[in-house]
Amino acid sequence: MAINIETLEAAAREVSPEYIGKAHKIIAATGDFWIVENEAGDYNEHGELIEYKVDLVHHTCTCKAGKLNFTRCRNGYCKHLVWATAAELEETQAMAEQAIAAATAILQASATNKRAHHLVIDGKVATAAEYDRIMNAKPRPTKHVPLNRQAGFSLLR
Ligand SMILES: [Zn+2]
Repeated sequence: MAINIETLEAAAREVSPEYIGKAHKIIAATGDFWIVENEAGDYNEHGELIEYKVDLVHHTCTCKAGKLNFTRCRNGYCKHLVWATAAELEETQAMAEQAIAAATAILQASATNKRAHHLVIDGKVATAAEYDRIMNAKPRPTKHVPLNRQAGFSLLR
C-alpha cells in the first residue's frame, strides 16, 4: 500500500515534542534510518526499551503494524512513521535555520567590514595601505596630445 506523503507530513506537523523526542536518527553508510521508542515506554523481557526501526525512504517500520504493511492502519501508516517524519521535518527546518543564520552572519560581517573584497598579494592579505591603493586607484589618465606639440620638433625637417 502506497503511503500518502501529504497526509503523513500533515500528521507529522501535529506531533508534540514529546513524541518527536522518541525518534532518534541513525546515520548509516547503507542509508539513514530512525529508531523510534514505543509509545508506552515498555521494556522487553531482556530489560531493553522496545524500539522500532523506521525507514523513511521505503516507509517501513518494524512494529506489528509495519510487519503487516500497515494494512490494518486507518491512515496507511503507523504512529512511529509519523513521529520519525516529524523528527525529520524538524531536523530539516533546523538545518535551514542554521544555514540562514550562517548566511546572515556573513552578510553582517561584510556590512561592518569596510573591505568589500578579499584582496591577497603574494599569498598575504593586503595591508590597509595596499588595499586602499589598489581599490582606490585612479584610472590611468588618457594622454591628451596638444595639437601644437610638434611645433618645436619634427623628423621631417
Ligand atoms: Zn511502527
